[in-house]
Amino acid sequence: MLDFTSDDRFKGIKTFASKVWLSSPTMHVEEQKWVDEAIQTNWVSTVGANINEVEKQVAEIVGRKYAVGLSSGTAALHLAIKLVGEKLYGKPSVGHGVLEGKRVFCSDMTFDATVNPVCYEGGIPVFIDTEYDTWNMDPVALEKAFSLYPEVKIIVLVHLYGTPGKIDEIKRIADAHGALIVEDAAESFGASYKGVQTGMFGDVSVLSGNGNKIITGSSGGFLLTDSKDEADRIRKWSTQSREAAPWYQHEELGYNYRMSNIIAGILRGQVPYLQEHIDQKHAVYERYRDGLKDLPVKMNPFSAESSPNYWLSCMLIDKSAMSREVRGEQDYLYISEKGKSSPMEILDALTAFNAEGRPIWKPMHMQPIYRLNPFITSNGDGRAQSNAYISMSCVDVGADIFMRGLCLPSDNKMTPDQQDVIIDIIHRCFE
Ligand SMILES: *Cc1c(COP(=O)(O)O)cnc(C)c1O
Repeated sequence: MLDFTSDDRFKGIKTFASKVWLSSPTMHVEEQKWVDEAIQTNWVSTVGANINEVEKQVAEIVGRKYAVGLSSGTAALHLAIKLVGEKLYGKPSVGHGVLEGKRVFCSDMTFDATVNPVCYEGGIPVFIDTEYDTWNMDPVALEKAFSLYPEVKIIVLVHLYGTPGKIDEIKRIADAHGALIVEDAAESFGASYKGVQTGMFGDVSVLSGNGNKIITGSSGGFLLTDSKDEADRIRKWSTQSREAAPWYQHEELGYNYRMSNIIAGILRGQVPYLQEHIDQKHAVYERYRDGLKDLPVKMNPFSAESSPNYWLSCMLIDKSAMSREVRGEQDYLYISEKGKSSPMEILDALTAFNAEGRPIWKPMHMQPIYRLNPFITSNGDGRAQSNAYISMSCVDVGADIFMRGLCLPSDNKMTPDQQDVIIDIIHRCFE
């Protein structure tokens, strides 16, 4: 890494005394109250008033009939996959995944927790390339995927960075092919599309209460459904699938995935602040947009029909303003060029002054673990290319955004003054 602090380009910039985070938890006062109440009344297990209350509140905010509190968004995704899997393919014999050998269409540019649960159940993720308008699943590539794999019945769809994807188009395609949607709204709680909240668009949908999300329980997640029977089934599975017998009686596989009443207490204290956090994140996004508008970069885009929760602010460097950068599997190299910059240069500069950004989530088709899985682009059956060396000539949208984009420090507690310094640092990277 260059020594940014002694580089002339960065003269006069002072290192942040306290770190500016990408996205850190923001506690208020009610969290303590509900956690204390749980402890004082001895309801610290996976039953209690906080769970009941927060499930009700979350369902109501999203507009869904039922929210089931679980230990994480990943656990919620796993049970969501299992639920739609059993609906479509029946119950597997014990020791077998419900999706064994079955292909599932998945968002490609996402966090791996979106996709891993498909593999927990023995399924084969088929990755669908990204579009440039919202950085989510490309409906054109999805349609293409159905022409190649018409037997597929499940689509796992994410709303990346809190921005709703092209939902109408994707739902239309799903309906035409009789496919069910598992919606990963882990990053987009509170975002809406045509006035309807994300979390409403899947046959089953999922939220996360992970520490860096828009609200947090320190951990935790929710599975959202409109079916009482499904909600009951998820509650049963998540508490080791106990039957209604006096002893431990088991007819199906169980999981220890239920949310604790302590975690639920933190979440219950956070729920009233969801909109406040969104407003703060929105202000961060707007300040970046204004502050960076004279540079050859663009902010992460969203469609006029949607209202993101602005969880992370990101930027994409214009092709013509990219200095040379190459990435291996775990390392990278770049050179500074006048009037240009690259994501890793900007991220290194931010790190040098004690601010945390992050590369764009590396697309799944570029991950070593998923390298051999099918990957479908809008213009053909693109195979994941070799990861040993990624050049600027990459052809798919996901790899292009990965190579030219980055996530900016997006903490809702970042002050406008701190953000001005970050904007200044980014400008100097292009000098
Ligand atoms: C955070 C996240 C998850 C997983 O949620 P956890 O609560 O951390 O298990 C899943 N999908 C996406 C897109 C996420 O960002």
